[in-house]
Amino acid sequence: MTCLEVQSNIISYIDDGLEKDKKIEFLKHVESCKDCKEELDIYYTMIEGMRQMDSNLPISRDFRAELDLRIKRELKQNRNRKKLLFSTIVMTILGVLAFSIIAYINFLNILYNDEQEEIKQKQGQYYYSAYFDDVLFDPEPKQFNVNIEPKEITEQSFYSKIRQYNANNR
Ligand SMILES: [Zn+2]
Repeated sequence: MTCLEVQSNIISYIDDGLEKDKKIEFLKHVESCKDCKEELDIYYTMIEGMRQMDSNLPISRDFRAELDLRIKRELKQNRNRKKLLFSTIVMTILGVLAFSIIAYINFLNILYNDEQEEIKQKQGQYYYSAYFDDVLFDPEPKQFNVNIEPKEITEQSFYSKIRQYNANNR
């Protein structure tokens, strides 16, 4: 806010007609600018003095001190408002952060559990196949061959029997 803007807003300020942000800008300028503070003091004394006379109030002895008090109070209100806003923002950020961390941990847990579940299932399939696949799907060929040992009828024994018969009947 420039000196010109401040000085054109002096009457609005005294009548409490400035909106919050504009009032803070106004006050901050007045705090650091002697000329504008001087101007404000003069207008304040004039306007407040007339107002007090009009309403038959006891006239302030020290308008300047009264004005300084008002400025201090209004700036403090603003700082408190800022502090509240700041702590609200900080709490919100912390809340979001905490929520994110918890959500992330939960997410990791879910991932871990899913992985474990998958591993278990694979192991289950492995054990299952290790123990039952052979039996159920690929039975070892069983030896069904029956050893039938034929009686040995050899040519030699046949002829030898005939020879023996012939020899006996000779
Ligand atoms: Zn100024």
